[in-house]
Amino acid sequence: MVRSSDAMQEAVKNFQSMNRLKPTGKINEETKKLMKRSRCGNRDPVSRIKSRSYGELLPYELHGSKWTNYKLTYRFKNFSQKMTKEGIIKIVKEAFGMWSQVTPLRFIESNDKKKRAHIDIQFSTRIHCCHEAPPDSAKFEGPGGVMAHTTYPEDGGEIHVDDDENWRLEYDPKDTNTMSFKYVMVHEIGHVLGLEHSHFVEGSIMAPYYYNTDVPPNFKLHETDIIAIQKLYGNQSIKLP
Ligand SMILES: [Zn+2]
Ligand SMILES: [Zn+2]
Repeated sequence: MVRSSDAMQEAVKNFQSMNRLKPTGKINEETKKLMKRSRCGNRDPVSRIKSRSYGELLPYELHGSKWTNYKLTYRFKNFSQKMTKEGIIKIVKEAFGMWSQVTPLRFIESNDKKKRAHIDIQFSTRIHCCHEAPPDSAKFEGPGGVMAHTTYPEDGGEIHVDDDENWRLEYDPKDTNTMSFKYVMVHEIGHVLGLEHSHFVEGSIMAPYYYNTDVPPNFKLHETDIIAIQKLYGNQSIKLP
């Protein structure tokens, strides 16, 4: 029988090894600090990472599914109560652009109300309709904690954004209470293209924890993120038919 304290200790150990902290199973200051940061709702690939020996650890993780088209459409199912529609359209275009700069992928916004796009983006709060997601992840918990979650290519492209968060569109160094929408979108697009959470690499966009208020204004994809996405789709020099 597994006692609940053992299960708790195991969960803390998993959390620590996922984030390159010493896996003691005890919640120390360093662990506490990281646990308080906002994160993405997608699960960490803990069991896969644990099944590898230390020498086989990769700095990134691929989900195992990818898109077969290089031209992908995306569509807004709705918009946010917190940010302007024009601002969202601009930022999402820039976020897709960061991935198309390093791959042959092209992203086109669709305005077709009836037909779903390859990638559908929606703003939700609390419990919401979440296709393909396990029931326990079909909810957001209000401000803080999980900011967004996304399905992988084989499960259909759905990006869900928690609209209870304090979002900001543009960078403002004086603003310490808001979360960069662009940063989170670049991360979620990584998932929708087939990347899982990276095995915590400082500066990787695919790390499970987001920067909170300290996102640099002109942040870039980390080398690890570029290697990972190019494993799936090749680089930007590939000519499309
Ligand atoms: Zn994520
Ligand atoms: Zn959802």
